[in-house]
Amino acid sequence: MNVDYFDLDAFLTTEERLLRDTVRQFVDERCAPHVAEWFEQGRFPVELARELGQLGLLGAELEQFGGVSPIGYGLICQELERGDSGLRSFCSVQNSLVMFPIAHYGSPEQRQQWLPRLAEGSAIGCFGLTEPEHGSDPASMETTAHYEDGRWTIRGCKAWITNAPICHVAVIWAKTGQSADTIRGFLVPSDTPGFVVESIERKLSMRASSTGIIYLNDCVVPDANRLPDAVGLKAPLSCLTEARYGICWGAVGAMQSCYESAVSYARQRMQFGQPIAQFQLIQEGLVDIMTNIVSSQLMAYQLGRLKAEKRLRHQQVSLVKRHNVAAARAVAARARSILGANGITLDYPPMRVMANLESVYTYEGTHEIHTLVVGADLVK
Ligand SMILES: Cc1cc2nc3c(=O)[nH]c(=O)nc-3n(C[C@H](O)[C@H](O)[C@H](O)COP(=O)(O)OP(=O)(O)OC[C@H]3O[C@@H](n4cnc5c(N)ncnc54)[C@H](O)[C@@H]3O)c2cc1C
Repeated sequence: MNVDYFDLDAFLTTEERLLRDTVRQFVDERCAPHVAEWFEQGRFPVELARELGQLGLLGAELEQFGGVSPIGYGLICQELERGDSGLRSFCSVQNSLVMFPIAHYGSPEQRQQWLPRLAEGSAIGCFGLTEPEHGSDPASMETTAHYEDGRWTIRGCKAWITNAPICHVAVIWAKTGQSADTIRGFLVPSDTPGFVVESIERKLSMRASSTGIIYLNDCVVPDANRLPDAVGLKAPLSCLTEARYGICWGAVGAMQSCYESAVSYARQRMQFGQPIAQFQLIQEGLVDIMTNIVSSQLMAYQLGRLKAEKRLRHQQVSLVKRHNVAAARAVAARARSILGANGITLDYPPMRVMANLESVYTYEGTHEIHTLVVGADLVK
């Protein structure tokens, strides 16, 4: 089912449509049949990393690995999240939070060492900004990097890190002095002595995603592992803007999977002698869902156009992340109710999507933080 009420397809290039269809087929074949099992087991299918690499989805926006358009990249995120938010999260981290900073802030040697392996999925990266005591306010981070004799000693703890338990390299953000201006990024290979990861279990959301705590017990790395052009908090924040752009599209995919599930269920489910789709209150639910999908799709699409023209402002991304994820959360709840009791099981997407969206609502800047960002922008 192509959930496209406003014929956005007509505005896509041939390459973008082909890319979208390729990812859609991959998700239908390799993800959809297994996702409930992964979610139940609380496991990210790490074996998919190389397949995602072979499809060219890792580093897709970078010129050397395909250089897809921003809208093309958005469509990748949309289709992956139609499968599961965990799959899209994996790609968001690898693309926007690991390959993007290495490509933009890294040295030629760092790019050569890591980007090809990250692109083929033989190496997995993670991004360590959040700490146990500092989430929305990363400027207050406590992790430090101390320089001596050409080497940095990194000490601290990073929490809630996607891909940490399965990573080969971590982009770690640490203070080299007292203020946020002294924040720098470091590439810390996971086999560095003192690098310890504890997996976060018992999650009720984003279960088909690997999340962990990283303990940096005086990890020593050479100065060659510092991202030379990443200076201050604006460096990690620029990575987050990239990742949030992908979330804006991913939320559309999450809503599409809920819509597909709700409309096909409503057509088949008989009550009072007729399909529940015939009841106007059910139709109202479907109208609300479709309205949220269309408004979110159009916003994501326009963000993509602004990004392609290099006119995108981070506040615009905040507005759409905030809108689309809230819309998706409402859609998942409405779709769940249309499925009645069956809706609370893993046999249908809405409740899994609903649970996942709780993480999406909170990570990459909470809903409230994006409200503050846009609010301040409107009155400046
Ligand atoms: C599944 C998952 C994966 C994640 N992956 C990563 C990752 O890969 N890398 C990484 O670095 N981090 C990651 N995170 C962490 C995520 O970015 C943080 O959880 C997020 O920034 C919020 O921080 P917090 O949880 O500490 O909440 P807090 O900052 O403690 O906020 C708690 C509540 O207070 C509100 N609040 C805070 N400040 C204000 C304010 N000034 N005004 C109004 N309300 C406020 C928040 O909106 C929220 O509702 C992940 C989180 C999850 C759940």
